[in-house]
Amino acid sequence: MTTVEAPESHLRENPFQIARLQLRRVADIFDIDDRLVNILQECKKAVVVSVPVSMDDGSTQAFEGYRVTHNVARGPSKGGLRYHPDVTLDEVKALAMWMTWKCALMNIPFGGAKGGIVCNPKKLSRGELERMTRRFTSEIINDIGPEKDIPAPDVGTDGTVMAWIFDTYSMNKGHSVLGVVTGKPLNVGGSLGRLEATARGCLYTIQEAVRKRELSLDGLRVAVQGFGNVGSYLAKFLVEEGSTVVAVSDSGAGLYNPKGIDVSAALAHKQETGSLHGLRGADAISNEDLLLVDCDVLAPCALEQVITPDNADKIKATIICEGANGPVTPAADDILEGNDVLVLPDILANAGGVVVSYFEWVQGLQEYFWKEPEVNSKLRDIVTRAFNETWHVAQERQIAMRPASYGVAVGRVAEATVTRGLYP
Ligand code: NAD
Repeated sequence: MTTVEAPESHLRENPFQIARLQLRRVADIFDIDDRLVNILQECKKAVVVSVPVSMDDGSTQAFEGYRVTHNVARGPSKGGLRYHPDVTLDEVKALAMWMTWKCALMNIPFGGAKGGIVCNPKKLSRGELERMTRRFTSEIINDIGPEKDIPAPDVGTDGTVMAWIFDTYSMNKGHSVLGVVTGKPLNVGGSLGRLEATARGCLYTIQEAVRKRELSLDGLRVAVQGFGNVGSYLAKFLVEEGSTVVAVSDSGAGLYNPKGIDVSAALAHKQETGSLHGLRGADAISNEDLLLVDCDVLAPCALEQVITPDNADKIKATIICEGANGPVTPAADDILEGNDVLVLPDILANAGGVVVSYFEWVQGLQEYFWKEPEVNSKLRDIVTRAFNETWHVAQERQIAMRPASYGVAVGRVAEATVTRGLYP
């Protein structure tokens, strides 16, 4: 049996320390009781499991898997499952904490969780991926459930992975449990609109932000880093609104055309070849340079910590939409604020996914499914309201959108904690 070693990480700073630093900054600004901060800066539960898998070549590999619940004061915990070689326990803890704030900011009745397996899903066969997912689900079967903790897709996972989790959990319980995961395919209880929901939420926040900055989506120049679930749909929606997508990238290639990338062709090329590499009609650009291109809106939709003090000063966009979780480090935040760049923070900008996951969970519990326009219009209401609440606090206190969004969110979780009281 071999144990899979993680390669050198893309993370320069410990994300959990960043998440805690952000919490402490907010606690100072909003005068949140130290005793509450002591509770909120810890994760309620962190499960580490070994996931042995029979590989196609007859060998056995043990993958390391994590499931972390940060907080359940406002409801069962909710958060994605990431398959990536760089996953660490501290990264999962940070992502779980951000999920708590995201759900609270959206005012949906969930706490925060996250999970991950250290693996490279691109190098696993479909059979290996399925066996790994089903074994991981059995290892954490007592920790998840519709009233407890509800996983969803994240980097490297998708509806198929969710269907395997749903099936494994249901087989063990003896009946179908629709509410155990969200992001399921439509034919096994998924919600219309879930696949595109995170990008749609990004679009709604950009729409509100450009209105405040007296710009318009029509003619807006946007650069999108990451061309997976979030980035590719966001690019598509922006083009439909009349914006020009000047640059896109994935882990294998970056493309730049100041007159506009043909996003439909990029989507077709990615679907066909699995990569943006080789798409015609644009110049090659590195992922680092993509962040610095001349544009109005920059949307990092890949991984964390891509905007740091090394490049923050050189960013030309006036609005940054955090499609990814944690793409801007706290030190970079300070530089961007000084340069009057409007950062739409992750817990606001990319919350569309968890909002429609909430709708999917509700539909699954009721076994009654909504039409897509109903899903999208309810999503727009929730995201727009959260944007305006955050904007209002930012204006009132003369602070950036990130601390304002955290102020609203942490305040709600703190209130719920006080109302429930500390057991015993
Ligand atoms: P995905 O796996 O579908 O896509 C990730 C994309 O990023 C791929 O195109 C990949 O090639 C690219 N990428 C990976 N490493 C890169 C690198 N070093 N440089 C440039 N591109 C790179 O994942 P996703 O679901 O689109 O998630 C992307 C981000 O959005 C993550 O931070 C995730 O946590 C966040 N997010 C996702 C959702 C969701 O519903 N899927 C919801 C909220 C937040």
